[in-house]
Amino acid sequence: MYDVVIVGGGPAGLTAGLYTARGKLRSLLLEHGLTGGLVTTTEWVENYPGFDEGILGSELAQKMERQATRFGLEIVNGSVSNISINGKIKEVTLDSGQKYEAKSVILATGAHPRNLKVDGEDEFRGKGVSYCATCDGAFFKGEQIAVVGGGDSAIQEAIFLTKFAEKVYIIHRRDRLRAEKILQERAFSNSKIEFIWDSVVEKIAGDTGVKALHVRNVKTDEKSSIDVQGVFVYIGYNPNTGFLAGLANLDENNYLITDENMATSAPGVFAAGDVRSKPLKQIATAVGDGATAALAAEKYIEENF
Ligand code: NAP
Repeated sequence: MYDVVIVGGGPAGLTAGLYTARGKLRSLLLEHGLTGGLVTTTEWVENYPGFDEGILGSELAQKMERQATRFGLEIVNGSVSNISINGKIKEVTLDSGQKYEAKSVILATGAHPRNLKVDGEDEFRGKGVSYCATCDGAFFKGEQIAVVGGGDSAIQEAIFLTKFAEKVYIIHRRDRLRAEKILQERAFSNSKIEFIWDSVVEKIAGDTGVKALHVRNVKTDEKSSIDVQGVFVYIGYNPNTGFLAGLANLDENNYLITDENMATSAPGVFAAGDVRSKPLKQIATAVGDGATAALAAEKYIEENF
C-alpha cells in the first residue's frame, strides 16, 4: 500500500513526488512516457525562476526527476487505465493489469495538443505535420514552414523554428495575438517570420510529405495556397482526463475542478498542473500546484488513516 500514487510525471507530478517523498510518505509516480511532460517539448525555458540565463526544457525535467528520486520517489513506467475508490482505499490500474493501492492519489496528467481536424493532418502526421518544434524542428533546415496558432506556444516555437527554417509563416485566425507581449515583440522583429492574419488552414496537401497549405481568410473568404514543407500545430491543449470515467468533477472543457488545496470532488484525490481547471498554465504554477497537492494529501492521510 502506497501513501500516495501520483499519476503523471511533468513538473506538477514530480514536484508533488518531491514533497511527499521528502515528507517520508511512501510515494509512487506512474508515467506512460518520458518524465518531464510538456516541458520536454520546449526547447528553452526562460520564465522559470532560478535559471537566470534560461534552461533547456529537457534539462529542467531531468533535474526535477533527479531531485525527487533522491528523496525516495519511486517512478514506474505505465499507462493508467482506471482508478477506483473502495472505502478510503484507492486502486490504480495500469493497461497491463498491474494494480496499486494507495491512501491518496494526485492526478497530474497534464494535457495533449489539440488537432486542427483538417484534411491531410492525419495523413501527413510525422511527414511534415508536427506538434513539437523541439522534437522535429531540425528536420526543416533551410525550408519554408508554417506554425498555426496565436498563443504563447505558437509564437515561442515559431521563433525557435527560425533557427532552422528559412521562412516561418504564422497563420492565426484573428488579427491579434494571444501570446505575451515580449514574445510578440520578438516575433514582429524577426525577419524570417511572416504573419498570415485572420486565416485558417483548410487542408494540408502533399504527396510523400507536406507540400502546401490551403488557407482561407475568414474576413474576405479569399482562398490561397502557401508552399511549405512542414506545419507545426499549436492551437492549445485538451486535458488528459478521459480515463477518469466520472471519478471526479470536471469543468465544461473537461479539466479537473479543485479547491484551493487541489482537492477534487473525490475524497483523497487531488489534482495539480495543466490538468486542473485554472487560468494560468505555466511551469511555475504547475510546481506550486504539486507542492500544495502533496501537503493536502499528507493532511488527508493523517486525518483518515
Ligand atoms: P492557448 O493559449 O490556448 O492558445 C491557442 C491559440 O490557438 C490561440 O491563439 C487560439 O486562437 C488558437 N486556436 C485555438 N483553436 C484553434 C483552431 N481550431 N484553429 C485555429 N486556431 C486555433 O494555447 P498555448 O499557446 O498552447 O498555451 C497553453 C498554455 O500554456 C497557456 O496558458 C500559455 O500561457 C502557456 N504557455 C506559456 C508559455 C510561456 O510562458 N512562455 C509557453 C507556452 C505555453 P484565439 O487567440 O483566437 O483564441
